[in-house]
Amino acid sequence: MAQSDFTQIGFIGLGAMGKHMAEQLAAKLPDNARIHVYDISRIPVEELERKYPGKVVASSSPRDVAENAKYILSMVPEGAHVKSVYLDEKTGVTTVDLAGRVLIDCSTIDLATNLFVKQHLAEHHPDASFYDSPVSGGTLGAAKATIAFFLGCAETDPQLQALTQLLSLMGKQIIPCGAPSLGLAAKLCNNYLSGLIAIGSAEALNMGIRSGLDPRVLSNVFAAGTAQNAICDKFNPCPGVVADAPSSHGYEGGFKVQLMKKDFSLAVSLAENVGARLELGGQGLRTYEGASKDNDCYDRDSRVVFRYIGGDEKWAAKL
Ligand code: NAD
Repeated sequence: MAQSDFTQIGFIGLGAMGKHMAEQLAAKLPDNARIHVYDISRIPVEELERKYPGKVVASSSPRDVAENAKYILSMVPEGAHVKSVYLDEKTGVTTVDLAGRVLIDCSTIDLATNLFVKQHLAEHHPDASFYDSPVSGGTLGAAKATIAFFLGCAETDPQLQALTQLLSLMGKQIIPCGAPSLGLAAKLCNNYLSGLIAIGSAEALNMGIRSGLDPRVLSNVFAAGTAQNAICDKFNPCPGVVADAPSSHGYEGGFKVQLMKKDFSLAVSLAENVGARLELGGQGLRTYEGASKDNDCYDRDSRVVFRYIGGDEKWAAKL
């Protein structure tokens, strides 16, 4: 495989995910590489600059990043932030000549915003490429470079080889999903399903405990039966079943319930837009909205729905 030129990289948005991802690039790219970073907060920018002096370079705006970098990644919270990063008339990426630039937005946002930015680029910067590439695997996965990227492009895309080389520095699996914005569609379908599995698992565990079952036995039953699923196996919503699951540590770490609410809501809107009937979407959304507003659940791992529905977290004391 021919090696692409990754000497000038840009990274915009150094939050819970982006900082780890940018750090993977700083640690793994050769010494002559420069990673031009920008965040509206100075703190993560200065931390990375201190840790990788000379290699990580602070930028003053997305425009400044775009002036210096050939490959530019962004990882910001929502569609409005993505619009600002790319389209702001004074400071946005698109205020400079982007010929030959490869732009990769890894944020989980709505498809319409992604396609709006893509359309703007196609009209004003036809020689630039723009991809949606949301990720899965959480902050721990970002820190260990084990996340998966869902790329909005075809397997025949001319940039796929270079994109795979670059994204592989930050993650384990790079899956081209077929066409622009389909990486986002895939991510929203995934989170819709995993969000529902978490609610169903929490309900079944709560029902079982109230019937007198030990949730560890019940989880073994699920694992051996047709209910087997990754949420129960790795992120069991009931504390004390899986030792390193967030639920066993006060629901600390993991995937915050308000992020699940955001993604679930985007998924329900996607279903509406494409005319897909949802039997469970409305209720699922109400559950995550309620849990996000609940003081005992806010900011906790999304599997806190077990607590939200009144699951008995002290079941072990009653055995
Ligand atoms: P975060 O809030 O921790 O970080 C976002 C960063 O973007 C912050 O540092 C913020 O200052 C910066 N930012 C906001 N607006 C900006 C702008 N206009 N210009 C530059 N920087 C800006 O969020 P996160 O957890 O890193 O998530 C980022 C995206 O990744 C979200 O879309 C989220 O849904 C998705 N995601 C998160 C996880 C997770 O476990 N945290 C997992 C998969 C996907």
